[in-house]
Amino acid sequence: MEKIKMKVPLVEMDGDEMTRVLWQIIKDELIKPYVDLKTEYYDLGLGHRDETRDQVTVDAANATERLGVAVKCATITANRHRQEEYHLSEIWPSPNGTIRAVLDGTAFRAPILLPFLRPAVPGWEKPITVARHAYGDMYKAVELVTDEPGIATLNFKGHSGREQTLTIAQTKGSAVFQGQHNTETSIRAFVRSCFQYALDTKQDLWFSAKDTISKEYDGEFRRAFDEEFANTYKERFDALGLHYFYTLIDDAVSRVMRSKGGFVWALKNYDGDVMSDMVAAAFGSLAMMTSVLMSPDGSTEFEASHGTVTRHFYRYRAGEKPSTNSTATIFAWTGALRRRGQLDDLPDLVSFAGKLESACLETMKDGLLTGDLAVLVDEGHRCQIVNYEESLLAISKRLAEKMRSVSNR
Ligand code: NAP
Ligand code: MG
Repeated sequence: MEKIKMKVPLVEMDGDEMTRVLWQIIKDELIKPYVDLKTEYYDLGLGHRDETRDQVTVDAANATERLGVAVKCATITANRHRQEEYHLSEIWPSPNGTIRAVLDGTAFRAPILLPFLRPAVPGWEKPITVARHAYGDMYKAVELVTDEPGIATLNFKGHSGREQTLTIAQTKGSAVFQGQHNTETSIRAFVRSCFQYALDTKQDLWFSAKDTISKEYDGEFRRAFDEEFANTYKERFDALGLHYFYTLIDDAVSRVMRSKGGFVWALKNYDGDVMSDMVAAAFGSLAMMTSVLMSPDGSTEFEASHGTVTRHFYRYRAGEKPSTNSTATIFAWTGALRRRGQLDDLPDLVSFAGKLESACLETMKDGLLTGDLAVLVDEGHRCQIVNYEESLLAISKRLAEKMRSVSNR
């Protein structure tokens, strides 16, 4: 069978530990037999980040802007303990933070559902996609600690020379301060990518913030959503029978818990950070959560939501075969290949991505499950716990059958 050709390479960001092990097998056993895989390879493994003084991460992010589609393996975020373990010259920043800062944009996190896995919230029948604004607020804030009475002000000096000053607080003793910002460009890009994603996936869009308290800051987010909807998206939403809905964040939290799911929930950076972990945990396993970062110019980076599964890696290194779930990492690859296929008009590549996803889901439906899922299945559903290798082998066999039936047609 002739391999599927690609036109433009994917940006491939390799990573660390157990996910690096899975990464290699996914490429070699599931993709390369069928696709003439073209990638621009960046090794974001911690050792290589250290050797390049983290330049490789910046290069990979810039390549994503240039080529448009990236797939990323989970990476270690260094800390003091990892510095000792890997003999690092410095504690390098989180690669995801660096990439988000370059690409700006919005992170969409969506669960992969299986009929026999019941979410912790019994009413949730459909996926909830959390759309997290990936720029600014607390993540780009400056902080100050003071130790005497005084006055703190917020001051802006325009290039025109005009100044604006507000008193933050007069303090009687030691105090802490935080200065946050966001930009109109980034907020608008966030808003538009949320509406666009909702249209693409044909789901309602919810946005929630706290504009009753934060009238200017959160108010600006709300104004942007309301305006963009009225001016640009309302007709297309109406045509598809979709709804845009704003409510205060605390009201949204209680509505989400009582909902059936099936919508995109847009959230500011911190709210999205927290709520995406809650939603992920409630839907079951982190290994069934995909994550997509979309930049305002349309560049897209696909990854799994989980980390490098360190505890499994240590067992792997000791010669064991851990029961690690590769679903989200496989879906990162299929997401990236599908997107490349759509952009470059390669229907065979798009269709391959779908077949690989089906092979993966059908293997699990047949009852071959990794340990993280086995504990979540309904009583009465027969399943067999397999290790990472057995699971990938079963997926590869199923994929081979699907690809054979294509080439025989
Ligand atoms: P983690 O790698 O997500 O793993 C936490 C636990 O969740 C695992 O020990 C395992 O539980 C379970 N788990 C996660 N993914 C799984 C999978 N694919 N299959 C089966 N079980 C899975 O989080 P962590 O241990 O806190 O972090 C490890 C490293 O990853 C850290 O260095 C962190 O900096 C990094 N990290 C990277 C990213 C990223 O690159 N996007 C995100 C988060 C964390 P059991 O051990 O109970 O089986
Ligand atoms: Mg988080």
